[in-house]
Amino acid sequence: MLWILTSLFFAWCAFREIRRSIVAPPGFDFPTPLSKPYLAIVLALAPVFAWPPIHIWRFQRFLSAKATELAENHRAKVHCNTIFDTMLDSEMLFAGHADPKTGEIGIQHPWCGTLIAYLNHPDRASHEELASLNLFTHESMHVRGELNEALTECEAVQRNYRAAKLLGVKGVIAKRNALDYYNINYQQRREIGGMQGGYYSDQCAPGKAMDEHLSDSTWATP
Ligand SMILES: [Zn+2]
Repeated sequence: MLWILTSLFFAWCAFREIRRSIVAPPGFDFPTPLSKPYLAIVLALAPVFAWPPIHIWRFQRFLSAKATELAENHRAKVHCNTIFDTMLDSEMLFAGHADPKTGEIGIQHPWCGTLIAYLNHPDRASHEELASLNLFTHESMHVRGELNEALTECEAVQRNYRAAKLLGVKGVIAKRNALDYYNINYQQRREIGGMQGGYYSDQCAPGKAMDEHLSDSTWATP
């Protein structure tokens, strides 16, 4: 919001400068000459400040469409929380949350940024960036209708390969990223235990009870 207001302020400065060069300002008999350097600066600054919110808005729309696909056409609406949204969010301790009834997915600050970073260089995804991919898939699984955390997480684990490809990651890299999440991040949930343990099940493995035998499962052999 602050970005948009700043952008509008510079747009207004440009408008005022042009108007003053056509219509004499109050108290002046003649229009004031146009200051080209000033106009150039304010015209350049307006889009600079408008770009970040537009970029996030477009990213949210992109994520909403892909989450809807992952949720098997249960309509998802992704919102990337700003730092202020996160501070005011009753679930600020969680990286994300989803409401299966409304399809709304809230991703806390700074996880959308982490996901953007992941999509910029999936071939060298960090531990956190892999977690951001899984966060997106996990919340999409809630929108699909699952509420149990261990089941939701396992559904996500099996679909991270599909999710990464939907987000534009090349097949081989998407497979490696999804398997890395399962073999490293997911197994760490068991080791950490506590609340993290609630997201883990030893039945989430190939051929075990939670295996959905998806043809494009993360752990399916091509
Ligand atoms: Zn969850």
